[in-house]
Amino acid sequence: MSNHFEVIVIGSGPAGYVCAIRCAQLGLSTALIEKETDTGDKPVLGGTCLNVGCIPSKALLDSSQRYADAKGHLSEHGIGVNDVTLNIPEMMVRKEKIVAQLTGGVAGLLKHNKITVLSGAGQLLAGRQVELTDAEGQTALYTADNVVLASGSEPVEIPPAPIDGDRVVDSTGALCLDSVPARLGVIGAGVIGLELGSVWARLGSEVVILEAMEQFLPAMDEQIAKESAKIFAKQGLDIRLGARVTGVEVTPEQVTVGYSLGDVEHSETFDRLIVAVGRRPRTDKLFSGDSGVSMDERGFVFVNEHCATEAPGVWAVGDIVRGPMLAHKGSEEGVMVAERIHGKAAQLNYEVVPSIIYTHPEVAAVGKNEQELKAEGVDYKVGTFPFAAIGRAQASGETDGLVKILSDADSDQILGAHVVGPSAADLVQQIVIAMEMAASTEDLQLMVFGHPTMSEAVHEAALAADGRAIHMVNRPQR
Ligand code: FAD
Ligand code: AMP
Repeated sequence: MSNHFEVIVIGSGPAGYVCAIRCAQLGLSTALIEKETDTGDKPVLGGTCLNVGCIPSKALLDSSQRYADAKGHLSEHGIGVNDVTLNIPEMMVRKEKIVAQLTGGVAGLLKHNKITVLSGAGQLLAGRQVELTDAEGQTALYTADNVVLASGSEPVEIPPAPIDGDRVVDSTGALCLDSVPARLGVIGAGVIGLELGSVWARLGSEVVILEAMEQFLPAMDEQIAKESAKIFAKQGLDIRLGARVTGVEVTPEQVTVGYSLGDVEHSETFDRLIVAVGRRPRTDKLFSGDSGVSMDERGFVFVNEHCATEAPGVWAVGDIVRGPMLAHKGSEEGVMVAERIHGKAAQLNYEVVPSIIYTHPEVAAVGKNEQELKAEGVDYKVGTFPFAAIGRAQASGETDGLVKILSDADSDQILGAHVVGPSAADLVQQIVIAMEMAASTEDLQLMVFGHPTMSEAVHEAALAADGRAIHMVNRPQR
């Protein structure tokens, strides 16, 4: 085997493996390096997303929602279910099977595309040389015309709450607890804290989420964040804002968390504690000092809008570069880079990257929120519509939440959409398509939406922007 490739990708997460597949599709000889291995010394493909992120968390969110439905909501439909039981090991086996199915699928795709998978840790050296160190510490040197760095991210640890993998776990540990804690503490009310807190709350834990910031979901549209907070409180999630964790004390049975709220010190005792205070780029030992690549003080690799680093022929994609840490953002960066390596002027429209919190109901957003438009001095229109007035939402018993669409007051072009409610992720995706086509609210107003669907809330919100919603009384929206 030659030690030279047209492209070497370091990291097989959604940014790296997608980039490698697109490179191979474009006819480039491609190698993909992955450092994680399983017990049989085979590389673990798919990164955080497939192994300890998006996929296993959604598997548990879906399982736990089914349990919660069987325990409670089915009775509203006149369906009685006796003796609902919970088998956590079986739930975990199902989750693992899904992960194995998908990572196996990635392995198959890499093979089909004739991508060389190299097992070991990759480090970029000067002149686009890549040193591979395998599990035994053996090294080998490879060269490439282009190198793509895609080493992803890892959970942040905070000094007051060190992870012990037993009482105190990070998101990875929270995806494989062996029993339902009676009382569960979560540090951080971000996306991961809310999703994992929801899983265990639905399975029966009493969940308390401690969040240092005073504002709930500050990156979200304020109105949607407020509405979401109300819905989560109704579900029994106890979210304490302004609660800064200062220390934890672990005993063999429990964990006591000290936190300050204002000037007052508090403490709470839990059976388990999840630390979900964010993620940081995994750029330690990824490149040598003379590689020409540099990073900021938080470890994010410097790239331009096309994900090119400062070193010629070296690119970086996914969680190790600026922008939201989202699988789909990384994958599309991977595709853009592959196209650019192949000589096309590909771009990525960062303005329309959707973000989603997979709670029940979901919270999803794309584009600008209302406070951003105000801060930028944009003259805008607002159209909101509640799910309570949507026939399909009533039929499904999913009436919490609303759709909000923001558009330019002059041109009518859609600038953002924010949804908390049933199928929020899919509804926001409709607006992603609309925004990508530079659509206006009028375009949405003139389209035919199937009835009865949750999508009608999108139609009505677009109509409401001009005071012409049909199924509610139109009132000034701002
Ligand atoms: P990663 O997926 O982290 O992959 C990087 C890979 O590189 C890893 O396999 C790593 O072992 C390997 N690697 C690192 N260094 C080296 C090296 N030197 N040599 C060789 N290999 C190396 N995002 C969403 O969009 N939707 C969600 O629903 C969602 N849910 C999430 C839930 C949880 C619990 C978590 C933790 C994350 C979630 N995310 C979600 C975020 C998502 O997982 C990440 O944004 C995504 O995985 C980043 O992709 P990546 O390819 O940049 O890096
Ligand atoms: P995210 O980055 O979206 O995953 O969210 C992580 C959350 O954890 C942020 O909202 C932080 O404010 C919060 N956080 C970080 N450190 C602490 C701490 N010591 N106590 C409580 N919350 C914290």
